[in-house]
Amino acid sequence: MTPVQYGAACQAVVDTFNAREPAQKDHNYWNDPVIDPVRAEIKDHYIAEQNRRCCYCNREYPTNNKAVWDGEHIIAKSLAPRFMFEPRNLAASCKDCNIAKGEDEIRVDPNRKSFPDQSQHYIIVHPHFDDYDDHIRWYGDAVKPLSPKGGELVGMCKLWRFGVAKAGVEVAPPNPLVDGLIGVMMDPQADPLTKAVAIEGYKEYVRARAQKPAD
Ligand SMILES: [Zn+2]
Repeated sequence: MTPVQYGAACQAVVDTFNAREPAQKDHNYWNDPVIDPVRAEIKDHYIAEQNRRCCYCNREYPTNNKAVWDGEHIIAKSLAPRFMFEPRNLAASCKDCNIAKGEDEIRVDPNRKSFPDQSQHYIIVHPHFDDYDDHIRWYGDAVKPLSPKGGELVGMCKLWRFGVAKAGVEVAPPNPLVDGLIGVMMDPQADPLTKAVAIEGYKEYVRARAQKPAD
């Protein structure tokens, strides 16, 4: 993914912020009206760059309506305000993924001073430093992590939410086992026995849910 390149006016705003003393780098500055054009440039760039797909759930949201999109700080701005305008720390995400991810720590070493600029510096799939398809596979609305980083992303952004909604379950259980079962059931590569076991496991899960009193 190509990082955003700020226009001259926005670059000046960014440079001014980056020149502040560390203690003066307040992440709330992000919401200052002065930043409006910078936020707009960031969103416009990444929405187009990502072909209107969320950087985490990879869902297509075929709209430029900015209310649908969040300018996403991959390392949360509250955790590291100094990376707030770092182009490789920015992407476009859907609201649900952004809210689910919240301010969770994603760095392997949060004490590292310089910007972590390699895949191995992150515990989740990184929009700039990883190839999404190496870590996450979608079968319709069911997600299957292909790597530990994929598994971390699924949990952090609650990517199981699509499959669970499809299965007609009202309350989304944070249950990676069920995600795994759905993934196997829909995996064209899975052998028939494995698939049958997954289907039985899933039926059992649905039965158990049905018998459970509504909460
Ligand atoms: Zn998303």
